[in-house]
Amino acid sequence: MTDGFDPFDHASLTVAHDESNAYDAVVPPIVQTSLFTFTDYDDMVSTYKGEKVRPVYTRGLNPTVRMFEEMLARLEGAEDAIGFASGMSAISSTVLSFVEPGDRIVAVKHLYPDAFRLFGTFFKRMGIDVSYVDGRDEEEVARALPGAKLFYMESPTSWVMEAHDVASLAALAKSHGVLTTIDNSWASPLFQQPISLGVDLVIHSASKYLGGHSDVVAGVVAGSKDLIGRIRGEAYPYLGGKLSPFDAWLLIRGLRTLPLRMKAHERSALEITKRLHAHEAVETVCYPGLANQLPPGLKGTSGLFSFIFEQGVDVRAFADHLSLFKLGVSWGGHESLIVPGQVVLSQKAQPNSAEAFGISPRSVRLHVGLEGTEALWSDLEAAISVASKG
Ligand SMILES: *Cc1c(COP(=O)(O)O)cnc(C)c1O
Repeated sequence: MTDGFDPFDHASLTVAHDESNAYDAVVPPIVQTSLFTFTDYDDMVSTYKGEKVRPVYTRGLNPTVRMFEEMLARLEGAEDAIGFASGMSAISSTVLSFVEPGDRIVAVKHLYPDAFRLFGTFFKRMGIDVSYVDGRDEEEVARALPGAKLFYMESPTSWVMEAHDVASLAALAKSHGVLTTIDNSWASPLFQQPISLGVDLVIHSASKYLGGHSDVVAGVVAGSKDLIGRIRGEAYPYLGGKLSPFDAWLLIRGLRTLPLRMKAHERSALEITKRLHAHEAVETVCYPGLANQLPPGLKGTSGLFSFIFEQGVDVRAFADHLSLFKLGVSWGGHESLIVPGQVVLSQKAQPNSAEAFGISPRSVRLHVGLEGTEALWSDLEAAISVASKG
């Protein structure tokens, strides 16, 4: 980045410390309050007139939430950021700040499933059209962009982990005057900084790596002061998906160890995907880290990937024989998790998820947590061996 700020520099994660912290506490206090009182009438009226910015009500501005927002903006190399109650709240509030009935959104396919469902339900009812493109095919993207209001990216995509050339796609959208957003949850700001690649708004499910301990559901969006100001002005207060002070405090705690955790997830996942790739029971491993080269702009790879078993492997036996890996949704925490593709395909609410999300019935999504690599591999190897015997 231009100012020489390295997100891997652990110490610089403490930049957001509040100088007014009376106790010099190394961990900032949680400002757990719904409202803030005024000293007198003039104080109140000057705040209402907008002559000064100060917290009034936590649905608008809260110092603990603000501290997290400033830390995240710095990590993403963005002017500003705004926190939300969930990743989905960040996605819906961001997109709804910039589109209206009659507008068209272009989105990359194989999106995070609930974003796909948001677009296919609420947005459809509101007359907002979403067309899907293969983010790896720039000609297809170029054909879809003219006349669109917003280009919604996710790279790598959920489940099949298709990694895109984000800078090229952003430049393409810019040439058509289309606003760009990206879901950057998988890479975290340490492995991909989309603002520096020309993207306008960067969205995270902070429930994943930013929190890192599987104890918080939250979201955040980073971008220019102008664009974040627009989200802060309407969607944030009126849709009301505010980030709570306690959750913001947990996220500040999570960010302290983000560089260490991301390196550990990457190291373990690289080793495990290589071994799975070489295993005779495995047909394909979907992980950008196995490619000869990462797309420009992607500086590392995290702990989430999927793989497809060869025909005849009993996925149920595999799942039930694991002990370190737990069956569970979400990812990005300290613990290793799996989700079998067949289980997702059996969900009644999503009849076409094989096509929409690229999920094969023989696939398994796997998150490599912070346990030891060799212990995790032993667990996988033993379960695969049992599942292949059938
Ligand atoms: C989990 C997830 C979301 C949604 O985030 P929540 O915090 O669960 O609302 C969005 N995008 C991606 C890629 C995710 O994995």
